[in-house]
Amino acid sequence: MSQETAAALAAIAEQVQVCKLCRLYQSATKGVPGAGNPNAEILFIGEGPGYYEDKSGLPFVGNSGKYLEKMLALIGLTRDDVFITNVVKHRPPENRDPLPDEIAACKPYLDQQLELIDPLVIATLGRHSMGRYFPNGKITQIHGQPKYNGRHAYYPLYHPAAVLRNPSWQEAMEADFKRLPEVLAKVKALRNGAPPTSSGTPAAKKDEDDPPLKQLSMF
Ligand code: URA
Repeated sequence: MSQETAAALAAIAEQVQVCKLCRLYQSATKGVPGAGNPNAEILFIGEGPGYYEDKSGLPFVGNSGKYLEKMLALIGLTRDDVFITNVVKHRPPENRDPLPDEIAACKPYLDQQLELIDPLVIATLGRHSMGRYFPNGKITQIHGQPKYNGRHAYYPLYHPAAVLRNPSWQEAMEADFKRLPEVLAKVKALRNGAPPTSSGTPAAKKDEDDPPLKQLSMF
């Protein structure tokens, strides 16, 4: 199973390298499909590659990546334990925000990665990936508040670059990361059919990216 998943992820990575579905490939050096453990329980979705990612083809290898690794270390994880990817797989010029049509063009790659890896926790880094699961969310209000649906937790986090720019957010970011093991344990319990606890209410609305919800009938 995991070898098949790894092979399918590698096939997606190859497609990303030759992708011309939006304009971003024109100014980029390398595609950055994502990297990590094909069996990851936690998957992080960032915004888009920056300068160092564009040169190396790997996600989160610059300052933001170092900070992300520091946060992972707080809970005893390394980047090899998780999977890290972005909403767009080529670097936007001058690190501008990815445009809605670029995010839409790149969506099938992310959808396939999520389906193959089927992580328990999908942690969004910053507002562009947060928008996938919390379209009306404000990051300053909802960071660190997981949304459960029986098979997954969607967990909105600040973007590491934003935390580096706003050191006053560091404490919240650390606290949010330290809650990840608890969030993970709750999804495992939900997948095993345990009723939710007061802080673990399953989401009422099914996300379009989700496989069928097996446990919702009991709520
Ligand atoms: N910022 C992102 O959102 N993604 C990366 O891969 C690097 C920096």
